[in-house]
Amino acid sequence: MKIMKFGGTSVGRPERMHQVKDLITADDEKKIVVLSALSGTTNALVGIGEALAEGKKDKAKQKIEELQEHYTNFYMELLTTKASRSKAVQIIKEHFEFLTIILKISFNEAINKDILAQGELLSTKLFYTLLQELEIPAVFLPALEFMSIDENDEPELSRIRERLEAILARYPEDSIFITQGYICKNHRNEVDNLKRGGSDYSASLIGAAVSASVVEIWTDIDGMHNNDPRIVEQTRPIAHLSFDEAAELAYFGAKILHPASIWPAQLHNVPVKLLNTMAPEAAGTTITGAGEGTVGVKAIAGKDGITALKIKSSRMLLAYGFLRKVFEIFEKYRTSIDMITTSEVAISLTLDDVTHLKEITAELQKLGKVEVDHHLSIICIVGNTIMEEPGVLNKIMGSLEQFPLRMVSYGGSRHNVSILIDGKNKEQALKSLNQGLFDFE
Ligand code: ASP
Ligand code: MG
Repeated sequence: MKIMKFGGTSVGRPERMHQVKDLITADDEKKIVVLSALSGTTNALVGIGEALAEGKKDKAKQKIEELQEHYTNFYMELLTTKASRSKAVQIIKEHFEFLTIILKISFNEAINKDILAQGELLSTKLFYTLLQELEIPAVFLPALEFMSIDENDEPELSRIRERLEAILARYPEDSIFITQGYICKNHRNEVDNLKRGGSDYSASLIGAAVSASVVEIWTDIDGMHNNDPRIVEQTRPIAHLSFDEAAELAYFGAKILHPASIWPAQLHNVPVKLLNTMAPEAAGTTITGAGEGTVGVKAIAGKDGITALKIKSSRMLLAYGFLRKVFEIFEKYRTSIDMITTSEVAISLTLDDVTHLKEITAELQKLGKVEVDHHLSIICIVGNTIMEEPGVLNKIMGSLEQFPLRMVSYGGSRHNVSILIDGKNKEQALKSLNQGLFDFE
C-alpha cells in the first residue's frame, strides 16, 4: 500500500486533475490518494470566515458566489457526460448551500472550521466523480471517519490506525482509495483541521497508520532544492535527505513540505518521496531514515518573521535553575523556541509564534532585563554530519562576511548550522551562501 498526496496546484485545474488520474492508475499497487483543496480555495474560505467574523455578511456572500462560479466553470471543463455533470451540480449545490446557510446563523470558531473543510470535500468529490465517469474503480474514504486529533490538537495515531484498518478491511478487492487531506475531527467530535498546509501531514499520518511502502508527496517542483528557487537563480533538487535533515529544512522555510509531516513517517520508518506532477519521471527527493551520501552541505533554507529575545540576568553567574525558569514561561504559553544561545550572563532565543509575546515578556522581566527584536530571519544550513566537514564554518562565515550575524547555532545537531540575521539581508545571504557552498557551472 502506498500513499499519494496531491497538493492544491496539482488538482487546481481540470487538466491537472486528469494528470492526477493518470498518475494514480499508472501501476497496480494498492494506494490511498490524499487530495488538497483546489489551489486558492482554502484562502478564499479563510476570507469568507474573516468577513463573517467581522460581521460583513455581504462581503462573505460575494466571496461565496465568486467561489461557486469558479467551481461551476471547473466541473464543466473537468467532466463531459451528462450523468457526471449532474452529479457535480449536486455536489456543488450541497456544499454551497451549506455555506449560504452559514450566512444566516451566528458565526463562531467551530463554524469557521466547517467552512475551511469545504475545500477538500469539494476537490475529492469532484475527483471521485471524474473517476466514476471514466469507470476507474475506486473507493471514497471520508477522512472525517478516521482522522482525529486530541484535546491538545495532536493526531491520535493509534486510533487513526484502528479505524483505517477496519474500514480498509471492508474493501479487500479495491486498490484505489480517495480521501481528504487537512480535515479531521477534534475531541469534541467537531470538524477541525491539521492547520494550513496540513494535507502533507494527513498523508504522512495515513502512511504511518497503514505502514505504507512509501508516502509520495506530489507538487509542482521536482523535489526539495538545495536553496530557495524563488530567490536564488541556480538551484538543483537534492536526491536524498534523512528525516532529520528534511525536518530541519521543512521547519526552517523550505515550503515544499509541511514540517510536522516528518515525524509520523520517521517513527514508522516509511520513506517519503517528493515528486513533480509536471515531470513525473524526474527522480525528486527521497527522504529515509539513513543519512546517506557524502559528508557536507546539502541545502540551505531561510525563514522570515523571526523574533529574538535576550534575557540578561546579573545573577545568572553560576546560578543554577535560571534556564528552567526561563523555559517554564515558554511552556506555560505553549510557545516553542527555535534557536538558543547562552553566555554566562545572558540567554538569547528566537520565536516565530508571537501570539503570547506580551505575556511572555512580562514574565521574563521578573528574571532579568529583556530585549526584543523583530523582523529577523534564520538561515539554516543542513547536511549529512555537516560538522565533520573540515572548514565548513569558515566557508559559511566567509560567505556571510558582509552581514552582521545576530546569533549562530552550531552543534545543536550534527546536521545543522543555524544563523540569525536581519530579515532585510536574507535574500542576499541565501545568494552568497549558494555561491560559497555549492559548485554550479
Ligand atoms: N488546503 C489546505 C491549505 O491550503 C491544506 C493543504 O493544502 O495542505 O492549507
Ligand atoms: Mg502544501
